[in-house]
Amino acid sequence: MTNRITDIEDLLPPKPQAPQPRDCCGSGCCPCVHDIYEEDLRKWKKQCKRIREGGLEEVPVEGALHPDKWKEFEIVKIKEIYSNCLCYTFKLPEGKNLGLSIGQHLIVKQIKNGRAVIRQYTPISDISEKGSFDVLIKIYPNGKITQLIKDWKVGDNIPWRGPFGNFSYKTNCYKRILMLAAGTGIAPMYQIIKAIVDNDQDETFIKLLYSSKSISNILLREELLTLCQFWNFKMTHYLSAEDDLRMKKYNETIMSRKLTKEDVKSELLQAPVDSTLVLVCGTRSFDKDMVNAAKDAQVPDKNIFKF
Ligand SMILES: Cc1cc2nc3c(=O)[nH]c(=O)nc-3n(C[C@H](O)[C@H](O)[C@H](O)COP(=O)(O)OP(=O)(O)OC[C@H]3O[C@@H](n4cnc5c(N)ncnc54)[C@H](O)[C@@H]3O)c2cc1C
Repeated sequence: MTNRITDIEDLLPPKPQAPQPRDCCGSGCCPCVHDIYEEDLRKWKKQCKRIREGGLEEVPVEGALHPDKWKEFEIVKIKEIYSNCLCYTFKLPEGKNLGLSIGQHLIVKQIKNGRAVIRQYTPISDISEKGSFDVLIKIYPNGKITQLIKDWKVGDNIPWRGPFGNFSYKTNCYKRILMLAAGTGIAPMYQIIKAIVDNDQDETFIKLLYSSKSISNILLREELLTLCQFWNFKMTHYLSAEDDLRMKKYNETIMSRKLTKEDVKSELLQAPVDSTLVLVCGTRSFDKDMVNAAKDAQVPDKNIFKF
């Protein structure tokens, strides 16, 4: 005789395995293997409860990514943007996009000395693009994951998971967006700028203040310049090292100095702060300085978002 309870128990998904202490690489991954385990456990308990209460249907996942499972995607192209900064193109299953919302990112996992290292990356291709996605990655000489990424080759299958990130954006809910980015911090900004200027209904004005080391280190330089043709996007570049400004292109505004708190404050005088959204993405110290500058200019906390 079959026992109904046993039958249902057989249908439950396997319990996620708790990471061993040695699985944590100790480099402050966000999310780290323990955070991922806690989240998986929470979702597993919820799923078990649903099945025990009579529901068996899987929650449909629209895009190619899965929030709970690592999915492997093949690298089909690698392009060097400048030394130590590469653009990787990954193939998606036919007819699928990533299923990201504006400003969301993915996480990637690599194994180093038997331990998982996890980092976040924001695709720079259109979030609705089907068939492939692009990720721009800067390689750091002492970077835990990027020293493994630098060995990626075309044909490798890389495990990604997502979407992640709780940035939420509604068309026209702010009059103005001030974006403060440094280095690869341009990735989420670029994704958001494209989504806004491509939406005819969106009348939000965007100003980007972008800090790079030198002119040749400006990421997505051509792409950003093209976006400046839209009435609602303008940008100023700031250089942290001296450079030859004769390399400046027509229509480009380049300041041969660091981006300062005063620059942020004077931008914030252009529109009422309560109808301005401030987005920040760069290094830890850059983020701290920029968030403080926005707060000093009386931008309410709810209008400041740090990626
Ligand atoms: C939401 C989000 C989205 C991101 N999107 C991207 C993206 O699209 N492309 C991308 O390249 N990175 C992106 N990053 C950063 C990325 O997640 C990693 O932190 C980065 O690749 C470094 O990882 P690592 O393990 O090699 O370096 P780590 O081992 O973590 O750091 C080693 C050293 O590298 C240097 N370093 C690390 N990160 C930075 C930094 N941001 N600026 C300056 N120096 C640094 C420092 O010297 C640091 O001591 C994103 C981060 C977040 C939070």
